[in-house]
Amino acid sequence: MTARLKSARRVVIKVGSVLLVDQASGAVKRDWLASLADDIADLRKGGADVLIVSSGAIAIGRRLLGLKSGALKLEQKQAAAAAGQISLAQAWSAALGDEGMTTGQVLLTLTDTEVRRRYLNARATLNTLLRQGAVPVINENDTVATSEIRYGDNDRLAARVTSMMSADCLVLLSDVDGLYTAAPDQPGAEFVAQVDQITPDIVAMAGKPGSEIGSGGMITKLEAARIAMDAGANMMIAPGAPLHPLRQVLKGGRCTWFAAARSPAAARKRWIAGSLVPGGKLHVDAGAQAALGQGKSLLPAGVTGVEGQFMRGDTVSIIGPDGVEVARGLIAYDCADAAKIAGQHSREIAALIGFTGRNEMIHRDDLVVMDRNG
Ligand code: GLU
Repeated sequence: MTARLKSARRVVIKVGSVLLVDQASGAVKRDWLASLADDIADLRKGGADVLIVSSGAIAIGRRLLGLKSGALKLEQKQAAAAAGQISLAQAWSAALGDEGMTTGQVLLTLTDTEVRRRYLNARATLNTLLRQGAVPVINENDTVATSEIRYGDNDRLAARVTSMMSADCLVLLSDVDGLYTAAPDQPGAEFVAQVDQITPDIVAMAGKPGSEIGSGGMITKLEAARIAMDAGANMMIAPGAPLHPLRQVLKGGRCTWFAAARSPAAARKRWIAGSLVPGGKLHVDAGAQAALGQGKSLLPAGVTGVEGQFMRGDTVSIIGPDGVEVARGLIAYDCADAAKIAGQHSREIAALIGFTGRNEMIHRDDLVVMDRNG
Protein backbone atom coordinates (compact mmCIF):
# COMPACT_ATOMS: atom_id res chain seq x y z
CA MET A 1 0.00 0.00 0.00
CA THR A 2 2.94 2.31 0.52
CA ALA A 3 3.21 2.21 -3.30
CA ARG A 4 0.44 4.80 -3.36
CA LEU A 5 2.81 7.26 -1.74
CA LYS A 6 5.96 6.01 -3.43
CA SER A 7 4.51 6.25 -6.92
CA ALA A 8 2.60 9.53 -6.41
CA ARG A 9 3.57 12.28 -8.85
CA ARG A 10 2.17 15.14 -6.77
CA VAL A 11 1.72 14.95 -3.00
CA VAL A 12 0.03 17.35 -0.60
CA ILE A 13 1.19 16.97 3.02
CA LYS A 14 -0.90 18.48 5.78
CA VAL A 15 0.87 19.11 9.04
CA GLY A 16 -1.22 19.67 12.16
CA SER A 17 -0.40 22.27 14.84
CA VAL A 18 -0.06 19.65 17.51
CA LEU A 19 2.89 18.08 15.67
CA LEU A 20 4.70 21.27 14.84
CA VAL A 21 4.24 23.37 17.97
CA ASP A 22 5.24 22.43 21.50
CA GLN A 23 2.09 22.86 23.56
CA ALA A 24 3.87 23.97 26.71
CA SER A 25 6.23 26.56 25.21
CA GLY A 26 4.50 27.54 21.94
CA ALA A 27 7.84 26.98 20.15
CA VAL A 28 8.27 25.17 16.83
CA LYS A 29 9.62 21.63 17.23
CA ARG A 30 12.64 22.22 15.04
CA ASP A 31 14.22 18.76 15.23
CA TRP A 32 10.99 17.17 14.16
CA LEU A 33 10.54 19.71 11.37
CA ALA A 34 14.09 19.06 10.15
CA SER A 35 13.34 15.33 9.97
CA LEU A 36 10.19 16.00 7.95
CA ALA A 37 12.10 18.34 5.61
CA ASP A 38 14.56 15.49 5.02
CA ASP A 39 11.65 13.15 4.13
CA ILE A 40 10.24 15.80 1.78
CA ALA A 41 13.61 16.11 0.06
CA ASP A 42 13.56 12.32 -0.47
CA LEU A 43 10.08 12.41 -1.98
CA ARG A 44 11.18 15.14 -4.36
CA LYS A 45 14.30 13.22 -5.31
CA GLY A 46 11.93 10.41 -6.29
CA GLY A 47 10.36 12.84 -8.78
CA ALA A 48 7.24 13.96 -6.89
CA ASP A 49 5.98 17.53 -6.59
CA VAL A 50 5.36 18.34 -2.93
CA LEU A 51 3.00 20.95 -1.48
CA ILE A 52 2.69 21.54 2.26
CA VAL A 53 -0.42 22.71 4.09
CA SER A 54 0.79 23.75 7.50
CA SER A 55 -1.19 24.74 10.56
CA GLY A 56 0.41 26.29 13.59
CA ALA A 57 0.04 30.04 13.12
CA ILE A 58 -2.51 30.44 15.89
CA ALA A 59 -0.75 28.02 18.24
CA ILE A 60 2.55 29.92 17.85
CA GLY A 61 1.03 33.40 17.80
CA ARG A 62 -1.12 33.09 20.90
CA ARG A 63 2.04 32.58 22.92
CA LEU A 64 3.83 35.46 21.17
CA LEU A 65 0.93 37.78 21.99
CA GLY A 66 0.63 36.54 25.56
CA LEU A 67 -2.93 35.25 25.11
CA LYS A 68 -4.05 32.95 27.91
CA SER A 69 -4.81 29.27 27.35
CA GLY A 70 -8.40 28.26 26.69
CA ALA A 71 -10.76 29.15 23.87
CA LEU A 72 -9.96 32.29 21.88
CA LYS A 73 -12.46 34.71 20.36
CA LEU A 74 -12.40 35.02 16.56
CA GLU A 75 -10.49 38.30 16.59
CA GLN A 76 -7.98 36.89 19.06
CA LYS A 77 -7.41 33.90 16.78
CA GLN A 78 -6.95 36.25 13.84
CA ALA A 79 -4.49 38.38 15.76
CA ALA A 80 -2.63 35.25 16.92
CA ALA A 81 -2.45 34.04 13.32
CA ALA A 82 -1.06 37.41 12.20
CA ALA A 83 1.81 37.14 14.68
CA GLY A 84 2.33 33.38 14.39
CA GLN A 85 2.29 33.05 10.60
CA ILE A 86 5.58 34.93 10.35
CA SER A 87 7.35 32.50 12.67
CA LEU A 88 5.66 29.55 11.03
CA ALA A 89 6.81 30.57 7.56
CA GLN A 90 10.31 31.29 8.85
CA ALA A 91 10.52 27.85 10.47
CA TRP A 92 9.53 26.14 7.20
CA SER A 93 11.82 28.32 5.15
CA ALA A 94 14.76 27.47 7.44
CA ALA A 95 14.01 23.73 7.58
CA LEU A 96 13.45 23.34 3.82
CA GLY A 97 16.34 25.72 3.10
CA ASP A 98 18.70 23.44 5.05
CA GLU A 99 17.77 20.73 2.54
CA GLY A 100 18.36 23.04 -0.42
CA MET A 101 14.70 23.84 -1.08
CA THR A 102 13.07 27.25 -1.55
CA THR A 103 9.81 27.93 0.29
CA GLY A 104 6.90 29.93 -1.16
CA GLN A 105 4.31 31.05 1.38
CA VAL A 106 0.73 30.98 0.05
CA LEU A 107 -2.19 32.13 2.21
CA LEU A 108 -5.58 31.13 0.81
CA THR A 109 -9.15 32.07 1.57
CA LEU A 110 -12.13 29.89 0.78
CA THR A 111 -13.00 31.72 -2.45
CA ASP A 112 -9.53 31.00 -3.82
CA THR A 113 -10.40 27.35 -4.20
CA GLU A 114 -14.18 27.57 -4.51
CA VAL A 115 -14.67 30.30 -7.11
CA ARG A 116 -13.20 29.11 -10.38
CA ARG A 117 -12.02 32.49 -11.59
CA ARG A 118 -9.79 32.83 -8.57
CA TYR A 119 -9.00 29.16 -8.55
CA LEU A 120 -7.34 29.48 -11.95
CA ASN A 121 -5.06 32.18 -10.50
CA ALA A 122 -4.19 30.31 -7.31
CA ARG A 123 -3.50 27.18 -9.32
CA ALA A 124 -1.29 29.02 -11.81
CA THR A 125 0.74 30.54 -8.95
CA LEU A 126 1.19 27.19 -7.24
CA ASN A 127 2.12 25.50 -10.52
CA THR A 128 4.71 28.19 -11.18
CA LEU A 129 6.25 27.69 -7.73
CA LEU A 130 6.45 23.95 -8.39
CA ARG A 131 7.91 24.41 -11.85
CA GLN A 132 10.59 26.66 -10.40
CA GLY A 133 11.48 23.97 -7.88
CA ALA A 134 10.02 25.67 -4.79
CA VAL A 135 7.89 24.07 -2.10
CA PRO A 136 4.60 25.91 -1.53
CA VAL A 137 3.77 26.16 2.18
CA ILE A 138 0.07 26.92 2.36
CA ASN A 139 -2.16 28.03 5.22
CA GLU A 140 -5.53 29.65 5.50
CA ASN A 141 -5.38 33.44 5.45
CA ASP A 142 -6.71 33.46 9.01
CA THR A 143 -6.28 37.17 9.63
CA VAL A 144 -8.88 38.20 7.08
CA ALA A 145 -11.13 35.16 6.82
CA THR A 146 -14.29 35.62 8.85
CA SER A 147 -16.21 32.64 10.16
CA GLU A 148 -18.66 32.53 7.23
CA ILE A 149 -15.92 32.38 4.66
CA ARG A 150 -13.43 30.16 6.44
CA TYR A 151 -12.39 26.65 5.70
CA GLY A 152 -11.94 26.59 9.46
CA ASP A 153 -9.65 23.60 9.45
CA ASN A 154 -6.64 22.70 7.42
CA ASP A 155 -7.77 19.13 6.75
CA ARG A 156 -10.39 20.38 4.33
CA LEU A 157 -8.17 23.16 3.05
CA ALA A 158 -5.55 20.51 2.20
CA ALA A 159 -8.20 18.43 0.41
CA ARG A 160 -9.31 21.45 -1.64
CA VAL A 161 -5.70 22.14 -2.57
CA THR A 162 -5.30 18.47 -3.56
CA SER A 163 -8.31 18.77 -5.83
CA MET A 164 -7.34 22.16 -7.27
CA MET A 165 -3.81 20.94 -8.05
CA SER A 166 -4.87 17.50 -9.32
CA ALA A 167 -2.51 15.91 -6.79
CA ASP A 168 -2.71 12.14 -6.63
CA CYS A 169 -1.95 11.75 -2.93
CA LEU A 170 -2.90 13.64 0.23
CA VAL A 171 -1.11 12.82 3.47
CA LEU A 172 -2.66 14.04 6.72
CA LEU A 173 0.01 13.89 9.39
CA SER A 174 -1.78 13.83 12.66
CA ASP A 175 -1.53 12.91 16.33
CA VAL A 176 -3.65 9.82 15.62
CA ASP A 177 -2.36 6.92 13.53
CA GLY A 178 -5.53 6.41 11.54
CA LEU A 179 -9.18 5.45 11.72
CA TYR A 180 -10.54 3.10 14.38
CA THR A 181 -13.97 1.46 14.52
CA ALA A 182 -14.56 3.32 17.82
CA ALA A 183 -12.60 5.76 19.98
CA PRO A 184 -9.13 4.15 20.12
CA ASP A 185 -9.12 3.95 23.92
CA GLN A 186 -12.35 1.96 23.98
CA PRO A 187 -12.23 -1.82 24.36
CA GLY A 188 -12.77 -3.62 21.07
CA ALA A 189 -11.80 -0.60 18.93
CA GLU A 190 -10.18 -1.97 15.80
CA PHE A 191 -7.82 -0.25 13.42
CA VAL A 192 -9.09 0.27 9.85
CA ALA A 193 -6.29 0.00 7.29
CA GLN A 194 -8.23 0.89 4.14
CA VAL A 195 -11.46 2.66 3.27
CA ASP A 196 -12.81 2.52 -0.30
CA GLN A 197 -15.94 4.58 0.26
CA ILE A 198 -17.14 6.98 2.96
CA THR A 199 -20.31 5.17 4.04
CA PRO A 200 -22.54 6.14 7.02
CA ASP A 201 -20.86 3.27 8.93
CA ILE A 202 -17.46 4.87 8.38
CA VAL A 203 -18.76 8.30 9.47
CA ALA A 204 -20.17 6.70 12.61
CA MET A 205 -16.65 5.53 13.53
CA ALA A 206 -15.36 9.10 13.77
CA GLY A 207 -15.44 10.41 17.30
CA LYS A 208 -15.18 13.96 18.59
CA PRO A 209 -12.13 16.15 17.83
CA GLY A 210 -9.37 14.72 19.95
CA SER A 211 -6.45 17.07 20.33
CA GLU A 212 -6.51 20.43 22.05
CA ILE A 213 -4.75 22.84 19.75
CA GLY A 214 -5.71 21.95 16.16
CA SER A 215 -9.22 22.42 14.83
CA GLY A 216 -9.59 19.20 12.87
CA GLY A 217 -10.94 15.96 14.33
CA MET A 218 -11.74 12.67 12.62
CA ILE A 219 -14.97 14.14 11.18
CA THR A 220 -13.10 16.82 9.24
CA LYS A 221 -10.57 14.18 8.15
CA LEU A 222 -13.38 12.10 6.68
CA GLU A 223 -14.75 15.18 4.92
CA ALA A 224 -11.27 15.78 3.57
CA ALA A 225 -11.16 12.15 2.42
CA ARG A 226 -14.43 12.56 0.56
CA ILE A 227 -13.15 15.67 -1.26
CA ALA A 228 -9.81 14.01 -2.08
CA MET A 229 -11.36 10.74 -3.29
CA ASP A 230 -13.88 12.64 -5.45
CA ALA A 231 -10.92 14.45 -7.00
CA GLY A 232 -9.19 11.14 -7.74
CA ALA A 233 -6.56 11.35 -4.99
CA ASN A 234 -5.70 8.69 -2.45
CA MET A 235 -5.58 10.02 1.09
CA MET A 236 -3.64 8.73 4.04
CA ILE A 237 -4.00 9.49 7.74
CA ALA A 238 -0.63 8.75 9.28
CA PRO A 239 0.94 9.26 12.69
CA GLY A 240 3.01 12.40 12.44
CA ALA A 241 4.64 12.55 15.85
CA PRO A 242 7.71 10.30 15.31
CA LEU A 243 10.80 11.76 13.68
CA HIS A 244 10.83 11.13 9.90
CA PRO A 245 7.09 10.48 9.76
CA LEU A 246 7.00 9.82 5.99
CA ARG A 247 9.97 7.46 6.10
CA GLN A 248 8.19 5.52 8.85
CA VAL A 249 5.12 5.10 6.67
CA LEU A 250 7.20 4.09 3.66
CA LYS A 251 8.87 1.44 5.82
CA GLY A 252 5.43 -0.05 6.38
CA GLY A 253 4.32 1.89 9.45
CA ARG A 254 0.67 1.96 10.39
CA CYS A 255 -1.69 4.33 8.59
CA THR A 256 -5.22 4.40 7.15
CA TRP A 257 -5.60 4.71 3.38
CA PHE A 258 -8.65 6.15 1.69
CA ALA A 259 -8.45 4.76 -1.84
CA ALA A 260 -9.71 6.74 -4.83
CA ALA A 261 -11.62 4.90 -7.52
CA ARG A 262 -10.14 6.91 -10.41
CA SER A 263 -7.15 9.07 -11.31
CA PRO A 264 -7.12 12.87 -10.74
CA ALA A 265 -7.22 13.48 -14.52
CA ALA A 266 -10.23 11.20 -14.96
CA ALA A 267 -12.00 12.76 -11.96
CA ARG A 268 -11.40 16.27 -13.27
CA LYS A 269 -12.66 15.44 -16.74
CA ARG A 270 -15.72 13.79 -15.26
CA TRP A 271 -16.41 16.93 -13.25
CA ILE A 272 -16.00 19.22 -16.29
CA ALA A 273 -18.14 16.95 -18.48
CA GLY A 274 -20.88 16.92 -15.84
CA SER A 275 -20.77 20.59 -14.91
CA LEU A 276 -23.50 22.99 -15.98
CA VAL A 277 -22.82 24.72 -19.27
CA PRO A 278 -24.04 28.28 -18.76
CA GLY A 279 -24.68 28.87 -22.45
CA GLY A 280 -21.24 29.96 -23.60
CA LYS A 281 -20.16 28.45 -26.90
CA LEU A 282 -16.98 28.51 -28.94
CA HIS A 283 -17.14 27.48 -32.59
CA VAL A 284 -13.93 25.93 -33.87
CA ASP A 285 -12.54 25.00 -37.27
CA ALA A 286 -11.66 21.48 -38.43
CA GLY A 287 -7.97 21.92 -37.56
CA ALA A 288 -8.76 22.86 -33.96
CA GLN A 289 -11.25 20.01 -33.70
CA ALA A 290 -8.58 17.55 -34.85
CA ALA A 291 -6.10 19.01 -32.34
CA LEU A 292 -8.62 18.60 -29.51
CA GLY A 293 -9.05 14.96 -30.53
CA GLN A 294 -5.30 14.52 -30.05
CA GLY A 295 -5.48 15.87 -26.50
CA LYS A 296 -4.11 19.33 -27.33
CA SER A 297 -5.16 22.70 -25.89
CA LEU A 298 -7.56 24.99 -27.73
CA LEU A 299 -5.68 28.01 -29.13
CA PRO A 300 -7.43 31.25 -30.14
CA ALA A 301 -6.34 30.73 -33.77
CA GLY A 302 -8.76 27.83 -34.26
CA VAL A 303 -11.81 29.64 -32.83
CA THR A 304 -14.19 30.89 -35.54
CA GLY A 305 -16.94 32.32 -33.34
CA VAL A 306 -17.88 33.14 -29.75
CA GLU A 307 -21.47 32.94 -28.55
CA GLY A 308 -23.23 33.74 -25.26
CA GLN A 309 -22.20 35.37 -22.01
CA PHE A 310 -19.51 33.80 -19.85
CA MET A 311 -16.82 34.73 -17.37
CA ARG A 312 -13.28 33.49 -17.12
CA GLY A 313 -13.30 30.05 -15.50
CA ASP A 314 -16.82 29.14 -16.69
CA THR A 315 -17.51 25.92 -18.53
CA VAL A 316 -18.17 26.48 -22.22
CA SER A 317 -19.23 24.18 -25.00
CA ILE A 318 -16.97 23.73 -28.03
CA ILE A 319 -18.82 23.28 -31.29
CA GLY A 320 -17.25 21.72 -34.39
CA PRO A 321 -17.78 22.94 -38.00
CA ASP A 322 -20.77 20.56 -38.33
CA GLY A 323 -22.56 22.24 -35.38
CA VAL A 324 -22.10 19.32 -32.97
CA GLU A 325 -20.55 19.73 -29.49
CA VAL A 326 -17.08 18.21 -29.61
CA ALA A 327 -15.71 19.18 -26.20
CA ARG A 328 -16.29 21.13 -23.03
CA GLY A 329 -13.80 23.09 -21.00
CA LEU A 330 -13.00 25.84 -18.52
CA ILE A 331 -12.26 28.97 -20.49
CA ALA A 332 -9.34 31.23 -19.60
CA TYR A 333 -10.99 34.44 -20.94
CA ASP A 334 -14.33 36.17 -20.48
CA CYS A 335 -16.64 36.44 -23.49
CA ALA A 336 -15.57 39.95 -24.53
CA ASP A 337 -11.86 39.10 -24.54
CA ALA A 338 -12.51 35.70 -26.14
CA ALA A 339 -14.30 37.44 -29.02
CA LYS A 340 -11.38 39.83 -29.50
CA ILE A 341 -8.71 37.10 -29.70
CA ALA A 342 -10.77 34.52 -31.64
CA GLY A 343 -9.05 33.61 -34.89
CA GLN A 344 -5.83 35.36 -33.88
CA HIS A 345 -2.38 34.06 -33.14
CA SER A 346 -1.55 33.71 -29.41
CA ARG A 347 1.32 36.20 -29.73
CA GLU A 348 -1.26 38.91 -30.61
CA ILE A 349 -3.15 38.47 -27.32
CA ALA A 350 -1.49 41.30 -25.41
CA ALA A 351 -1.98 43.78 -28.26
CA LEU A 352 -5.64 42.83 -28.67
CA ILE A 353 -6.82 42.87 -25.06
CA GLY A 354 -4.24 44.98 -23.28
CA PHE A 355 -2.74 42.34 -20.99
CA THR A 356 -0.67 39.21 -21.40
CA GLY A 357 -3.16 36.40 -20.96
CA ARG A 358 -2.63 32.70 -21.37
CA ASN A 359 -1.63 31.34 -24.79
CA GLU A 360 -4.46 28.86 -24.69
CA MET A 361 -8.12 29.76 -24.86
CA ILE A 362 -8.70 26.51 -22.97
CA HIS A 363 -5.79 24.53 -21.54
CA ARG A 364 -5.80 20.81 -22.25
CA ASP A 365 -5.99 20.03 -18.50
CA ASP A 366 -9.29 21.92 -18.47
CA LEU A 367 -10.78 20.17 -21.53
CA VAL A 368 -12.84 17.09 -21.98
CA VAL A 369 -13.56 15.76 -25.44
CA MET A 370 -17.10 14.42 -25.67
CA ASP A 371 -17.66 10.86 -26.76
CA ARG A 372 -19.58 11.28 -30.01
CA ASN A 373 -20.73 7.70 -30.05
CA GLY A 374 -22.70 8.33 -26.88
N1 GLU B 1 -4.94 27.85 10.11
C1 GLU B 1 -4.79 27.51 11.50
C2 GLU B 1 -3.37 27.87 11.98
O1 GLU B 1 -2.47 27.95 11.23
C3 GLU B 1 -4.97 26.05 11.81
C4 GLU B 1 -6.24 25.42 11.41
C5 GLU B 1 -6.24 23.95 11.85
O2 GLU B 1 -5.78 23.65 12.95
O3 GLU B 1 -6.72 23.09 11.12
O4 GLU B 1 -3.15 28.05 13.14
